[in-house]
Amino acid sequence: MRNRSLAQRDYPLVIIGGGILGVTLAYLLSLKYQDRQIVVLETEADVAQHSSRRNTGVLHRPFYLDPETKARFARCAEQSYHLWKKLAQTVPGTPWLPCGTLEVAIDESQLPSLATYKDWSLKNGMKEYEVDLFDAEKLAQKFPHIKAPGAVFVVTDTSVDFQNMTQSLRDRAMAQGVHFLFRMPITGISEGDQEVFLHSKTAQTDLKAGIVINCSGAGSLNLAQQLGMGRNHCNVFFRGDYWEVDAGIRDWFGANIYSVPRFKEFPFLDPHWVRRAASGLVEIGPTAIPVPTPTSYDGVNLWDWKHFMQTPPTENKWKLLKNSTFLSLAVSEWRGAILKSHLAKRMRQFIPELRGGHLTYRGLSGIRASLVDESGHFVSEAQEYWGRRSLHIVNYNSPGATGAPAFAADLFRTLLKKGWLDGLKPRTDKVESFWDIETLLKEDPVNLPEPLGTQG
Ligand SMILES: Cc1cc2nc3c(=O)[nH]c(=O)nc-3n(C[C@H](O)[C@H](O)[C@H](O)COP(=O)(O)OP(=O)(O)OC[C@H]3O[C@@H](n4cnc5c(N)ncnc54)[C@H](O)[C@@H]3O)c2cc1C
Repeated sequence: MRNRSLAQRDYPLVIIGGGILGVTLAYLLSLKYQDRQIVVLETEADVAQHSSRRNTGVLHRPFYLDPETKARFARCAEQSYHLWKKLAQTVPGTPWLPCGTLEVAIDESQLPSLATYKDWSLKNGMKEYEVDLFDAEKLAQKFPHIKAPGAVFVVTDTSVDFQNMTQSLRDRAMAQGVHFLFRMPITGISEGDQEVFLHSKTAQTDLKAGIVINCSGAGSLNLAQQLGMGRNHCNVFFRGDYWEVDAGIRDWFGANIYSVPRFKEFPFLDPHWVRRAASGLVEIGPTAIPVPTPTSYDGVNLWDWKHFMQTPPTENKWKLLKNSTFLSLAVSEWRGAILKSHLAKRMRQFIPELRGGHLTYRGLSGIRASLVDESGHFVSEAQEYWGRRSLHIVNYNSPGATGAPAFAADLFRTLLKKGWLDGLKPRTDKVESFWDIETLLKEDPVNLPEPLGTQG
């Protein structure tokens, strides 16, 4: 559709953002509602151009997610694993590499975390056989290139290609009448009692929507703040760089290799050994380098930093900068960005033979937008801000790609309960799908966190 026709076209339901979450939600809605009532507005020329493409590509089993503090991500990861598996079995050519993940304790002090992971895996609904505890001896036998006092091996962790999965859902949503408008960055939003007005610099006139679901990733907070929500929070951006490893050492491990995080309150992890499902390559990454914008993929400049530091609320960022642990971790990440030998050195804590020379080409970097509250602390779960006729999903970070189908189903159920979908015309035909929408809509969400900034 050309931009000009926007003047005549109002949509009952608009989704902002064609990442994995927005597209999955559009697909689920298309299974229940008639054609041409749902539109996805996306800044880029296609879906999944940011986090949903630029990620580690691991379909995470929820063994490492605290069932209390990460309840929602854990439940969504558990439910979604089975949904993605069904999609991969049904759609020919979907990359699916069930290589497993080994998560190592770097030193003795981390050994209790491994037992905790086993406990969490069962509490989060995983099966006993999925998580195996390795002591140093078993580890040396099975993974001779690793040196560590212990590890957990998660047999069902799977390498996938989330961009490919998003594209599969895009194709099916389009076939079922969802409209996608690309190169349509939404820069302004306002709400009335009956409709939401959206402004885009590329459209000739404002677009009117019955309701709006804002799934625009790093862009979500800005739009919510225009409506007065989430104004005491800010985003801090971290770039994750990856390096391809030399072909000669690719078969050191058949699995993904992670280490137990040392600083759980910060979004810094030691980089992982990652098997790419689509290309067959192995990469080391990601780093977590602070950057000033959600698209600082290739470099940063002082102007962007100045703008970042001056954008309100500024106190959150200053409080974070006064945290000495945060600062020293950030400096270490920057050193890793400049010197690949520094990155290799960090990995040598558990892969002693790895050298900077083993890292050959740069992979595709991704950027995470992490929400920081007014005390300068990182917010751990995704947040929902409810407006009068709009819903905004903020801080939807890892394992967000893994959990997208269940998270989208949660949103669908809540929208139904609130009566926000009452104006949409239901389908009269039955649509074939690899997911049973009736079952997804029946399952009641459990342990939902209280949404922040609820207005209606
Ligand atoms: C380095 C890295 C590694 C990760 N690894 C994993 C992993 O292994 N496993 C996992 O499960 N998760 C992983 N994640 C997390 C996962 O990728 C994200 O949680 C997920 O992709 C978020 O999807 P999304 O649809 O919310 O956001 P996005 O994919 O960012 O999509 C948002 C979309 O909105 C569009 N947009 C933004 N602003 C506007 C606007 N104003 N108007 C219109 N459109 C707009 C953007 O162009 C974009 O296409 C990783 C993330 C990163 C950054």
